[in-house]
Amino acid sequence: MCLAGAVGVGAGDEVIVPALTWMATAMAACYVGAVPVFVDIEPDTLCLDPRKVKEAITKKTKAIIPVHIYGSMTDMEAIMDISDKHGIPVIEDCAHAHGGVWAGRGVGSIGHIGSFSFQQSKTLSSGEGGICITNDSKLAETLYLLKHIGYDPMSGQGKAASAPPEGLVCHNYRATEFQAIILLESLKYLQAQTELCDKNAKYLGDLIADIPGVKIQSRGRLADLQGYYTLALLISPEAVNNMALDDIIKSLEAEGLVCAGRTYGPVYKHLLWNIPSNMYRIDGNGCPVCEDICDNKAVCISHSWLLADDKETIEAMSRAIKKVVNPA
Ligand SMILES: *Cc1c(COP(=O)(O)O)cnc(C)c1O
Repeated sequence: MCLAGAVGVGAGDEVIVPALTWMATAMAACYVGAVPVFVDIEPDTLCLDPRKVKEAITKKTKAIIPVHIYGSMTDMEAIMDISDKHGIPVIEDCAHAHGGVWAGRGVGSIGHIGSFSFQQSKTLSSGEGGICITNDSKLAETLYLLKHIGYDPMSGQGKAASAPPEGLVCHNYRATEFQAIILLESLKYLQAQTELCDKNAKYLGDLIADIPGVKIQSRGRLADLQGYYTLALLISPEAVNNMALDDIIKSLEAEGLVCAGRTYGPVYKHLLWNIPSNMYRIDGNGCPVCEDICDNKAVCISHSWLLADDKETIEAMSRAIKKVVNPA
């Protein structure tokens, strides 16, 4: 929402986003009249493919929004290299990645701004809400103005001490102390919960490693600690006699492994994506990797499974997967 505004993106500018993400990532560009440009993902992490980002950059590109999706992280080294070379700001969408650590740094602290959602389904939640973090005091100030109707941090309610910069369209995106209390309490458990999920995801990956044609999405390549908001299971159609994805999900559920469902699919094919095609762009090379994975291969498993504190649950998950993918 106000994110794209904070880094100075405006009407007609282009913002690079991954083809696979929740719509909100792309809508952030639309809200400020900019054009989201959908770029393909990597087949293993399911995150924005940095090589394709390079090809999608034009003179109009004013921001890149990598998304750390499900149980992985975007290659932030590669993205920041591109950012430095072209002088394009990076906003890390960490809505799925609370608690994740990439090469010694917490997610959201690597790009110029990191955004986290506290919406009810997320791993840290206050019902609704979110937070933006930045190491840049100027950006922090602008973000504050944007979410607080233009009041600066020193102004009391109804007593503006200074005016926001001309043309900066500010909003009311405030949270309250009520949300903060809930979040501060939940924050105490985040580290341990993330570690548990990460341990269980690795164990599940090991348990299914010998089943041909199925694997979990690769965790962030430099992940010290991987955060999880669902976990994508990748099943090659050949391994299941080209069974349709919805039938695979039904079969897994018949074995007791209740799934979160399919991925979001490419944003530009989502039912709620009602943005006319002249208001967004799909990278010239298209997004065949994203389309193939979303249509044919990826099943999302809720991160709640990964909070199991016993090995048996994870072992039962692997047996369900084995039975469906390798019924013999
Ligand atoms: C949930 C989500 C958002 C948006 O968060 P809200 O707080 O619901 O606005 C953004 N990006 C991704 C990837 C998400 O999953």
